Amino acid sequence: MTSHLKKDLFRRIPKVDELLKEPSYRRLSRAYSRVHLVRAIREVLDGLREKINTLDPPNILAEWFTAEAIREEVETALKRQAAFHFRRVINATGVVIHTNLGRSLLAQEAIDHIIRVSKSYSNLEYDLDEGRRGIRYSHVQRLLCDLTGAEDALVVNNNAGAVLIALNSLAAGREVVVSRGEMVEIGGSFRIPDVMSWSGAILREIGTTNKTHLSDYERAIGEQTGLLLKVHTSNFRIVGFVEQVPGREIADLAHRSGLPAMEDLGSGNLIDFKTLNLPPEPTVQEALKQGMDVVTFSGDKLLGGPQAGIILGKKKFIGAIQRNPLNRALRIDKLTLAGLEATLKLYEDPRQAISRLPTLRMIAQSPDTLRRRAALLRRRLVRAGIQGFDFTVQSSSSQVGGGALPGIDMPTTCVAVTPRLMSETRLEKRLREASPPVIGRLEEGRVLLDLRTLLDEDFRDIVRIFTEIANEA
Ligand SMILES: *Cc1c(COP(=O)(O)O)cnc(C)c1O
Repeated sequence: MTSHLKKDLFRRIPKVDELLKEPSYRRLSRAYSRVHLVRAIREVLDGLREKINTLDPPNILAEWFTAEAIREEVETALKRQAAFHFRRVINATGVVIHTNLGRSLLAQEAIDHIIRVSKSYSNLEYDLDEGRRGIRYSHVQRLLCDLTGAEDALVVNNNAGAVLIALNSLAAGREVVVSRGEMVEIGGSFRIPDVMSWSGAILREIGTTNKTHLSDYERAIGEQTGLLLKVHTSNFRIVGFVEQVPGREIADLAHRSGLPAMEDLGSGNLIDFKTLNLPPEPTVQEALKQGMDVVTFSGDKLLGGPQAGIILGKKKFIGAIQRNPLNRALRIDKLTLAGLEATLKLYEDPRQAISRLPTLRMIAQSPDTLRRRAALLRRRLVRAGIQGFDFTVQSSSSQVGGGALPGIDMPTTCVAVTPRLMSETRLEKRLREASPPVIGRLEEGRVLLDLRTLLDEDFRDIVRIFTEIANEA
């Protein structure tokens, strides 16, 4: 009986050619290309077949098979195809530097500069004083040196690339000494031991997971040693009976032994976090002051700029890295360079950096501001008369992300949404499917919308999306 019913349903599915001849589809074919229209029709019809195959008859509804329902589905599929795949989402997770959601938002100054230099020709590699070929990095070199006190600077595609090219230039075929407690995996398969082997350097692991002493470094240094490396343990923290050797002591030992010392800072902030009432994070300037010969960090983590790998340090070593043929393979593109220059320029006045760079602004938001904004968003949701949800203001905590301040919870305020007519997982999914998608945090029967990462301009969309969801139910 079941198979008989299913056969009957299969017979109700129209043929692609027949649909294309119908007047309503001819209208669609004027608005969309034939390739897209045929693809959308196939997708919808395949979906119906799939439903017949996988669902039990009582769950298969006759109204899915009406000409009107099919046409509506086709139109939805066409709209989905026409939309960009890569698009804006609303980050309600509270994680400021969220690698999956694009890390740092750019300051308006950076966006403007990117538009300016990409709409016209530029002096990307042209020396306007001399009237001949110039150097791509020159646009940020001076700025980086002035801001950090470094002798020289170079920028590449990302920090993983920066570590790779630095190790390859300074220690290929030789040993690089690293503490076992700093053998970090960043995610997305960036692991210090793996990058080391790709660079051609030989890993010389020392110490134990929780403790490494200066004497461990001393004992490891020999004929084969090429470099001493310190790595910021970005995304984890070992607590308890622990000891790592300070950068200054590693640098001093390296220099006594005629070796360079390098530090992978990961996030690499230029601003002292104490001024933001946050636990201290090592700054780039401090690492250089401690005597590190080469320091690397990301452009799109705490710096708040575009994806880039920034390499600072002594002229001799930066020069060697710049001459490495890998530099061409890892080179930074012009849009990034424009965004980076404008981002760095904001740091000429640190107060301006905090007020203009979204990443720093979000991190520096005061508890009062977060509470006030949460109350405002809640009020707008309640005033919209949205049924089926309870909206409350709730204290919570969030993380900076991006390998900064690991294990440190920052107090924050959320709007907690308790759905009355659906499960919280269903609501989470429905928010993810909204336009724009809203990515929140799930917590015991609620979806939390964290004000730390919500922009004021997201509020309108959130109210509209909840109104739409309430009307569907
Ligand atoms: C994030 C991070 C990296 C990788 O930087 P990308 O810019 O993502 O390539 C490398 N090292 C450390 C310590 C990091 O935190």
